[in-house]
Amino acid sequence: MAKKFILQVVTPGRQFFNEEVDRVEFKTSEGDIGIYQDHTPLTTPLAEGGMLTIRQDGKEKKAAIHGGFVEITPDKVTLLTDAAEWPDEIDKKRAEEAKIRAERRLKVEEEDINEIRAKSALARSLVRIDVSGAKSEEDEL
Ligand code: ATP
Repeated sequence: MAKKFILQVVTPGRQFFNEEVDRVEFKTSEGDIGIYQDHTPLTTPLAEGGMLTIRQDGKEKKAAIHGGFVEITPDKVTLLTDAAEWPDEIDKKRAEEAKIRAERRLKVEEEDINEIRAKSALARSLVRIDVSGAKSEEDEL
């Protein structure tokens, strides 16, 4: 049987997750990565809005995570993220409104800083909409 490792996900407000898992997938600023046991150590920024997929005992859980850093050591993966939500915690209407606001700003804004902020807000809203469609129950693989 494959060796498990600890996945810890912490936000400024709560410990979101801290359990043994078989595999985890998430999005860094460089792109999507998937981690099994005995991974190579790495510390890297997380994407502004990305899906977290946790595989545990033949089941899969999804969540939205937003920015921060991941620290990977051989027996533990720690995600220090600005915000994290399970599917049933996401207010889809709020995310859809945030998406519309961000898209509107991207059409009119010319200042770089506002464009970066609008792109980040758009990325957060899109992953929230995506994850809110995932089943809140743990899906059998
Ligand atoms: P909004 O413009 O709707 O506030 P945002 O992307 O600016 O969205 P964040 O700064 O990423 O919001 O998050 C602030 C807090 O609100 C976090 O605790 C986050 O989990 C929560 N949050 C943001 N959007 C939603 C949502 N659609 N459903 C549930 N919680 C949300």
